[in-house]
Amino acid sequence: MTRPAVIAFNAAGAELAARVAPLIDGETFGLEGRAPNLDQTFADAGAQVADLFRAGRPILGVCAAGILIRLLAPLLKDKRAEPPVLALSDDGEIVVPLLGGLTGGDALARGLAAALDATPAITGAGARRFGLVLESPPPGYALANPDAAKAVTSDLLAGASARIEGEAPWLEASDLPLADDGVVALRVSELAGEPPAGGLLYHPKIVAAEFDRADPDAVERLDFALAKLGLAPQSLVFAAAPDGAPVDHRFRALLAARGLPLRLLDRRIEDGEEILQEAGVRLRRFASPVAAGDYGRAPGRVTVVGLGPGAKGWLAPEAAAALDRADDLVGYEGYLAMAPERAGQRRHGSDNRVEIERARAALALAAQGREVAVVSSGDSGVFGMAAAVMEAAAAEPARWPSVAIEVTPGISAMQAAAARLGAPLGHDFAVISLSDLLKPWETIAARLDAAAAADFALALYNPASLRRRQQLVDALEIVRRRRAPGTPVALARNVGREGESVRVMTLGELDPAVVDMRTMIVVGSSRTRVFARSDGRVWMYTPRVYELDGQALTQDG
Ligand code: SAH
Repeated sequence: MTRPAVIAFNAAGAELAARVAPLIDGETFGLEGRAPNLDQTFADAGAQVADLFRAGRPILGVCAAGILIRLLAPLLKDKRAEPPVLALSDDGEIVVPLLGGLTGGDALARGLAAALDATPAITGAGARRFGLVLESPPPGYALANPDAAKAVTSDLLAGASARIEGEAPWLEASDLPLADDGVVALRVSELAGEPPAGGLLYHPKIVAAEFDRADPDAVERLDFALAKLGLAPQSLVFAAAPDGAPVDHRFRALLAARGLPLRLLDRRIEDGEEILQEAGVRLRRFASPVAAGDYGRAPGRVTVVGLGPGAKGWLAPEAAAALDRADDLVGYEGYLAMAPERAGQRRHGSDNRVEIERARAALALAAQGREVAVVSSGDSGVFGMAAAVMEAAAAEPARWPSVAIEVTPGISAMQAAAARLGAPLGHDFAVISLSDLLKPWETIAARLDAAAAADFALALYNPASLRRRQQLVDALEIVRRRRAPGTPVALARNVGREGESVRVMTLGELDPAVVDMRTMIVVGSSRTRVFARSDGRVWMYTPRVYELDGQALTQDG
């Protein structure tokens, strides 16, 4: 489970939030200007709570229950997947689990209430009467027929008694009406099969699959082996492969699709008993449920993440999830500062130049089993770290054999700037970085000239820095030879960040002295237009319609 978020909306709430967060390993969030001294601040409560909820973070609001209900109501969809949501009264005396009874909400409320000596306002009839939610077994068990849980709970509340078939300490310890001849069967078995009529079937996670090689074909043999022994796939707790050997990416994807954690072992498991040996895969059965984390280590992963240009709403949900799960963040310090803080995460900041070394360091960290996010601003594939990671990996294809690499897209500065401007990149355009730190100026000059001559609209990155001043002067000279002085141009600075400014002018007016490295330049094509609406706002766009033999052509899309 990801870390709970403890949210406060005022000063009293902030104090309580800071006090309770350590009890549940939570991260604290405070309303800007009202709830000070917390890990994170937010300005828009609705957006903040919705973001956390969508990211699957358990939420504890130090506030009236109604606030959370109103903020979250439009988002509710799937009670089996959504995180717990709890309200805590600001005197710390009442904990109300509002949502997430099936995903640990009641347990979280009970635990917190016990630590605070508060009252957990448990309202679910089953949870109150029996001290557990049948639909939500503890870690180590999977319920095979969750749809039946509601009816079974009703039967038990109505007076039926239950009998346990198999080993289920958590059921034994509950307040369920148990009897040896109970009519409702609660079966606990690693074997596949129909659930008992009118009862429930739980699979204990007590079987591990040990592969000789992380080979995708072997996953099929696993299914065969399970079927041979009549084992339920849900009884699998993890798959293991030898540490040090390559982990095939399809093998990894097949396991991930089954929700089966992969562990890398430096020696064979000795606990439990071997129950089957097939070509390439062995099954072991343990006496009771085990935690995957106790065996071997996780394979590492490098995810290259684009943070977007800066605004929170421009961070893609997939990128946010990659940042949240990361043990280590690697990147230029200025960009790391843009990534939301998370306690327990290590940050490896560096200056902006040593990209390949940074990429290698990230791969080496992941090779130790860590979950690493390499961050760039905007899109990591646009003048960002993705190419550096690729280069490091391409140079040594056999190194870091267990490390998976993923790249997740982001919104690039040009897209953000274009959105602010209207649609200046609405037709063919070229993207050029004016930095000659990594490529010769002659190449840049030749590309600029060709793109300008071909009448592309231009998105110019890295136009200038404190030291690099001459490049933009020379670049403008090249563009001005090819394009009329009246061509629309925009300077977009700090788009989506504090101090954003987006200015439209003409190519003739553009003064290179006002451009810095936080700016990108959009140069229009010969067809780019600027207009003002009656509300006073000025827009810049490049039309998609071209005239051909007097006929207007449109592309859709
Ligand atoms: N990967 C990034 C680009 C990195 S190169 C992306 O996809 O956006 C750095 C250059 O990007 C800066 O010099 C500037 O030209 C541009 N840039 C990045 N963020 C910007 C922002 N928020 N506003 C304007 N320009 C930005």
